[in-house]
Amino acid sequence: MDDNTRAANALALRNAAEALRGNRFGAEVFATGAEAAKAVLALAAVGSTVGLGGCMTAQALGLPAALEAAGSRVITHAPGMSAEERRGVWLAAQAADLYIASPQAVTADGKLIFLDGSGNRAAAVICGPRRIVLIAGVNKLARSQEEGLWRARNTAAVANNIRLKKDNPCVKTGRCGDCASPSRICNAVTLLWKKPSYSDVRVLLVNEELGY
Ligand code: SF4
Repeated sequence: MDDNTRAANALALRNAAEALRGNRFGAEVFATGAEAAKAVLALAAVGSTVGLGGCMTAQALGLPAALEAAGSRVITHAPGMSAEERRGVWLAAQAADLYIASPQAVTADGKLIFLDGSGNRAAAVICGPRRIVLIAGVNKLARSQEEGLWRARNTAAVANNIRLKKDNPCVKTGRCGDCASPSRICNAVTLLWKKPSYSDVRVLLVNEELGY
């Protein structure tokens, strides 16, 4: 990213943060992922529980290991867990002190879009955890709700299908065909128009590409 693009992106992120605040979300802009990660660590008190879905942005920032090293207990599912074990983890994450996730899109008018297979993240970002922190790189910006939904299906979901080695049509075509595959990972759309009434939701926008 050259300096001019970085400056233009900073303005777009500033505008998105203003729109998010207009929708009652907390919103801040960070120049780098490292600065955003530092802010997350400051929010997680020693001994706190931190819920985490399959968040590639958090992984890219090294947050799971950093939070554990700082004295938090990270609650997340892992490969090989049974359905019942996952259910237990997801319910515990739902009641965590802090929940970290990343939306697939942040719209210019301050809406947040999530697309999920199981819906554990969907439940958590609406209501449950004491604090919800959503981290979004500049690549998540979308001009409209329609563009955000398009991005969730045709950019984020395709990349996640490839990452998860799913044999769904999009891994061959490179676009979402709204498949009927039993291994489909796109089952629940969460669209936060405004901050849910009793939830503490803070959005950290980052002027770097992060996650899908
Ligand atoms: S083709 Fe299926 S799995 Fe792939 S993005 Fe579309 S709905 Fe999701």
